[in-house]
Amino acid sequence: MLRLPPFRYHRPATIDEAVSLLGEYGDEALPVSGGTDLVPNMKHRLFEPRHLVALKGVGALKGIREEDGWLRIGAAETLTAVGSDPIARARFPALADAAGHVAGPQLRNMGTIGGNLCLDTRCTYYNQTEFWRGALGYCLKKDGTVCHVTRVGKKCVAAHSADTPPVLMVLDAVAVLVGPGGRRELPVRDFFVADGIANSRREPGEIVTEIRIPPTAAGRRAAYVKLRQRQAIDFPLLTVAVAADIEGDGTVRSIEGVVTALGSRPKELSGWREIAEGRRLDDEVVAELAGRAHQQCHPLENIIVDPDWRRAMVPVYVRRALEKVTT
Ligand SMILES: Cc1cc2nc3c(=O)[nH]c(=O)nc-3n(C[C@H](O)[C@H](O)[C@H](O)COP(=O)(O)OP(=O)(O)OC[C@H]3O[C@@H](n4cnc5c(N)ncnc54)[C@H](O)[C@@H]3O)c2cc1C
Ligand code: SF4
Repeated sequence: MLRLPPFRYHRPATIDEAVSLLGEYGDEALPVSGGTDLVPNMKHRLFEPRHLVALKGVGALKGIREEDGWLRIGAAETLTAVGSDPIARARFPALADAAGHVAGPQLRNMGTIGGNLCLDTRCTYYNQTEFWRGALGYCLKKDGTVCHVTRVGKKCVAAHSADTPPVLMVLDAVAVLVGPGGRRELPVRDFFVADGIANSRREPGEIVTEIRIPPTAAGRRAAYVKLRQRQAIDFPLLTVAVAADIEGDGTVRSIEGVVTALGSRPKELSGWREIAEGRRLDDEVVAELAGRAHQQCHPLENIIVDPDWRRAMVPVYVRRALEKVTT
């Protein structure tokens, strides 16, 4: 049996109280929402906070509603709530779809969208018990000095593995953060950095309080597809999110795609606009877009599935996502 390390559990009722607790205990504290990722990670001794600051009891972090045309989702809303919310489903079905693809029903009932945005990166050599990791001499991300994936490099390339961020990126969503320095907004596109050890621009002591999707995104056609070993529970081996503005006659006005589960941040595909803008999404254009994505995606051995096969799946999943957009 894997046991949790000892910790004190704090239940703030307001955002200010949560931020103040995180400030008071500094490096010894972490925020926890559903705990579906953090608690197993604590059992694996990947994190050993002396204080957990629970966010689920903070009323201001709840609620899914429209505000001046924006869709506002409280960070502590569960993935089940996001996936089933009538407004989210009607306006942003790709987001509801992505939320519904996380893990399995029990985990979606506990796991939150804020926790999904802040999910730790994952790697075959990291998401293991302390005993397993110790037998290998640990690794750069935690307690060690070498990376078993790159072998020579001094950089962690653990995989970004969350389902909702790629869709939030193509929908131009904004994350609202509150911390010791006050409140700030950060586009989800700029939220992630290519560092597997700490892959976001969230400062220590800051919490994500809400996610906002602009009214301009509502007219876009978006889609999400996910490759995984089983159709439930499993983290992604590859995901593709696409969004396009398409005229009534089928002409593409703008298009973009994001692929994740490759490196430490979701990858925005380049060169898509040049290929598709002003053309229809017919078989020829879809094949060109899929080929362009394939050129740019180079999966690593950070996930326990053959990287060459994952790379071969990139154009397949891009085509599937584009088919969803056109239908
Ligand atoms: C078996 C299994 C399968 C899974 N499969 C998937 C999957 O397919 N796809 C997927 O995306 N995820 C998957 N997960 C991971 C997890 O369930 C989800 O990502 C979930 O959304 C995490 O949310 P949470 O509220 O439980 O986060 P927590 O576990 O509470 O927290 C996760 C991290 O985010 C931080 N955090 C949480 N909330 C905030 C906040 N508001 N502001 C700042 N920091 C915060 C925590 O400190 C912690 O570092 C899986 C987990 C398990 C155990
Ligand atoms: S990518 Fe390398 S450093 Fe990062 S978790 Fe995996 S083995 Fe460790």
